[in-house]
Amino acid sequence: MKSVIFIAPPAGGKGTFSNMICSKYNIPHISTGDLLREATYKDNEMGSYIKEQMQLGNLINDEIIFELIEKRIVEDDCKNGYVLDGFPRSIEQAITYEELLLSLNKDLGCVILLDTPKEIASKRISGRLSCPKCGKVYNSFFNEMKPKYENICDDCKVSLIKREDDNEKTYELRYNTYIEKTQPLINYYKSKNLLYVVNSTLSPEEVLKQIEDIIRGE
Ligand code: AMP
Repeated sequence: MKSVIFIAPPAGGKGTFSNMICSKYNIPHISTGDLLREATYKDNEMGSYIKEQMQLGNLINDEIIFELIEKRIVEDDCKNGYVLDGFPRSIEQAITYEELLLSLNKDLGCVILLDTPKEIASKRISGRLSCPKCGKVYNSFFNEMKPKYENICDDCKVSLIKREDDNEKTYELRYNTYIEKTQPLINYYKSKNLLYVVNSTLSPEEVLKQIEDIIRGE
């Protein structure tokens, strides 16, 4: 299977659909956001820097991002493809990533834009909860995304948490960063004929079906 890159505004469904695709096809889910959140749990300078930038809705320094990505995609479980959730997030990252893939003799795969209007994405923020262990995303506002038992991860059985940057103020900042830095990737990948667009406001079943059609067609 080829790798998949998801592009979406914050709360546009990257985490949710990455999880679904990865469990179905048994390939790794690489979320730079999750890897960075893990780093914030460490009580050191790097952890504080990342935490602060996340709260401001800014992108984290490319050097840190590439250290995480380079290390992860050479692992054995990535041999048959992987899903990238939240990376690349700028044209600069996309270019450096292509150079990295070339040096590793790996393919980029396909890029899927989860097209989500801002009003819908920002509404999702207030009900969003995630599992601190496996990263699975739930949403108390949508029946199909609620956990079986309130606030408990269906798989890990641990209490769900709310992300610190899932608040109205930080959402605005994250969204502005998306428009400025990440949205230009849409035309970038379109011009390379690598972009597929899925309307993420359809039912989760329909979105998943469209994503699978794209992946199988690759
Ligand atoms: P996410 O979980 O994808 O919403 O990411 C949460 C936060 O982590 C973002 O708002 C950024 O501060 C940071 N982040 C995640 N991925 C990247 C990336 N590829 N480059 C820079 N910063 C990132």
